Amino acid sequence: MNEKTVFGTQEWAKYNENCISGCTHDCKYCYAKSIAIRMKRKTPDNWNIENIKNNKLAKSFRKRSGTFMFPTAHDITPNHLDECLSFLENILRPGNEVLVVSKPHLECISKICDLLPQYKHHILFRFTIGSTDSAVIKFWEPGAPDFDERLAALKYAFDMGYKTSVSCEPMLDENIDELIFKVSPYVTDSIWLGKMNYPGARLALNGTNDDATLSTMNELMSIQSDGWIMKLYSRYKDNRQIKWKESIKKAVGLEIPMEKGLDV
Ligand code: SF4
Repeated sequence: MNEKTVFGTQEWAKYNENCISGCTHDCKYCYAKSIAIRMKRKTPDNWNIENIKNNKLAKSFRKRSGTFMFPTAHDITPNHLDECLSFLENILRPGNEVLVVSKPHLECISKICDLLPQYKHHILFRFTIGSTDSAVIKFWEPGAPDFDERLAALKYAFDMGYKTSVSCEPMLDENIDELIFKVSPYVTDSIWLGKMNYPGARLALNGTNDDATLSTMNELMSIQSDGWIMKLYSRYKDNRQIKWKESIKKAVGLEIPMEKGLDV
């Protein structure tokens, strides 16, 4: 047997499900985009076109132990909201637990909350919010909702009695205290903090390694030095709402869970 670090979506869920290829949010650092380009399923120029996977919409699910994460390689956008709703309900119907991860559009989250109250206790929302500054968000995640809309979606789900959490991964600036302060009143579960993973390689593969982006990325990496991360960790290490992604555990020397795999 060998052992692999538990990383990325494995830190959150056992099963990954998606029903779309491509994403109009078109985040510069997107890992799903870089994988799709490497596998020649998409190009840097057509990643932002969303194609429904009809075979996935027809899939039926059975009850499994462990959490499903949906989506992991696209987002839930107004373009295909009905398809995403139907796919999500297919996963939930047999009694599965689902972690719904999104850079949330208020229109999408309010519809999910309004139409699926019978599954309220089987859904945990995790909204990705990397900055409170909508200009910073627009730079890195050009097609995604701004901060105010994401906060409104978080409040909506919270007020409707759903379980809520926030992923601040990647952290897009240094104002993480402000972000935690603004979102924490509406979080029932956890706030995850993490750095941008493999930024140089991802920007290069995604065709987003222009001078302005590389310079902003280098500035971000130098702000989020190991010393800065250590201070962030010291401020929040006793806060039970805050959880640390692998990139931060590594920087502060916390134990990183390992997954057993077969030797190859
Ligand atoms: S929202 Fe997620 S899947 Fe969509 S482009 Fe951004 S990182 Fe990629």
